[in-house]
Amino acid sequence: MDKTALFKISYGLFAITCNDGNKDTGLIVNTVMQVTDSPLRLTVTINKSNYSHDVIKNSGIMNVNCLSVDTPFEIFKKLGFQSGKDTDKFNGLLTWKASNGLVNLSCEYINAYICLRVIDYVDFGTHGMFVCEATDAMTVSDADSMTYDYYHKNVKPKPETKNKKGYVCKICGYVYEGEVLPDDFVCPLCKHGASDFEPIK
Ligand code: FE
Repeated sequence: MDKTALFKISYGLFAITCNDGNKDTGLIVNTVMQVTDSPLRLTVTINKSNYSHDVIKNSGIMNVNCLSVDTPFEIFKKLGFQSGKDTDKFNGLLTWKASNGLVNLSCEYINAYICLRVIDYVDFGTHGMFVCEATDAMTVSDADSMTYDYYHKNVKPKPETKNKKGYVCKICGYVYEGEVLPDDFVCPLCKHGASDFEPIK
């Protein structure tokens, strides 16, 4: 099987926001999908190792912030490359509250938001899929939506790999210098594992 075929599936990028009772938290995902129109149902799949997975399982609500092409790498770093368990991801970020009380990112970075209420949950072992109904939604700007492809081509910093031997993280561009990348290596920047690294050519 040619697994590179899977790279041809296009995805959007979204900031999910939620609240653990004490603070706002969230993460970046590419797994938001509208599955039916009437009634309006969406699914969001989240890795169980993410703090937000448990927060949403407990609170039953989340917001989808549709990221626009104007979202800088800083936002991906802040929301995606650290854990909400031990950091306040929204500290220093301009936010505003939607009708369900959850925060949204500044309209500089998003072109729409959708408030979701969880109505079902499917356990996929490593991940959980939240089946949701939309309780509110709004388009907030005309900017184009950020796709996964756009992120990789235009937002992620270009790694400095000239004259270097080693591996580069496909998610954040971190460069590991060395002949062999240990199987249990974890990227110090984005916390993705060795499978998300590729050899420097
Ligand atoms: Fe990384």
